[in-house]
Amino acid sequence: MKIKTNILNDSFGRHHNYLRISLIEKCNLRCAYCMPEEGVLLSPKKSLMTAEEVLSIAKVFVKHGVDKIRLTGGEPLLRKDFSTILEGLSQLNVALSITTNAVLVDRHIEDFKKYRLHHINVSLDTLIEEKFTTITKRNQFQKVKDNLQLLLGQGFKTKINVVLMKGFNDTEVIDFIKLTKDENLEVRFIEFMPFDGNKWSKDKLVSHQEILDQVNRYFGEEANQVLVNEQNFTARNYKIRGFKGRYGIISTVTNPFCDGCNRIRLTANGKLKNCLFSNNETDLLSYLRKGESIEPLIAKSIYAKKAIRAGMTDTEDFENPEKHNDNRSMITIGG
Ligand code: SAM
Ligand code: SF4
Repeated sequence: MKIKTNILNDSFGRHHNYLRISLIEKCNLRCAYCMPEEGVLLSPKKSLMTAEEVLSIAKVFVKHGVDKIRLTGGEPLLRKDFSTILEGLSQLNVALSITTNAVLVDRHIEDFKKYRLHHINVSLDTLIEEKFTTITKRNQFQKVKDNLQLLLGQGFKTKINVVLMKGFNDTEVIDFIKLTKDENLEVRFIEFMPFDGNKWSKDKLVSHQEILDQVNRYFGEEANQVLVNEQNFTARNYKIRGFKGRYGIISTVTNPFCDGCNRIRLTANGKLKNCLFSNNETDLLSYLRKGESIEPLIAKSIYAKKAIRAGMTDTEDFENPEKHNDNRSMITIGG
């Protein structure tokens, strides 16, 4: 549905049918690349969307063509009314998915089945317990591993998100890919991105090419098959010949995929972000609460979307804090 007047179309003709909703700013882990060491200033509870408001705003987007909603956070499964929100969203005509650290998956798995939440992205950056504790500052490795097995055993379409950081987990690329040998699993390596307070530096980045070099060295170039990109792809996908699952590389920094971007984000306090890297936010919640239409605000925000990463066209822009320091930390945006 690519109608010129659609409020979800931007000035480059991109239609935004994929809404990512952050349900919460809090988390039960403290991943160093996401949560600043000093913590984050949380929004006052009264300025966070209630379950009813999440649903009202989602309905407006669905009316204009959103057909895919991903729940994220913070840790979305920490929300006490998660089940109510999921039930409400399941009544809209959308494909539902979630990104979670998996610590609480066992408590919610029956809701996932009941409300048709079949696509689950689990964030797991290392297969070594001590490293997990170092990066997350919490001791939940076994729980995450058990819950991952639970999801795979019950046939959920599961992906593992791995944020790669040089000197920390770049030596685990091959071990992660080996997980795809016998499981219908997708492992996605994500380039480390800069956000407020996460001590990003270009030196910590593991590039797309470096990952491919490691894979080719270990498995052989012949065995590393390039898969066809999905529509509106973020990950460039590969498969090791004979393996059941596959792996992908999300190279937002060195090799962006903005041309086909169909994603928009709603933060837990009801602000629309037209790009993950945008410093600008459009407050939808206050207008909704005043009983005003939020459609003109959505149209204006999406139309103003820049062609590439909120205007950061070069990798060098990431090294200039002025270009992105006003952007919030990832935990309060919702990844
Ligand atoms: N708590 C949930 C989780 O960890 O899956 C959902 C929220 S988390 C912010 C969403 C995703 O963002 C995770 O896969 C996480 O790895 C990713 N992420 C957070 N900070 C990042 C960064 N600086 N660079 C790249 N990815 C990041
Ligand atoms: Fe929490 Fe997810 Fe951020 Fe880790 S990446 S601190 S699990 S929100």
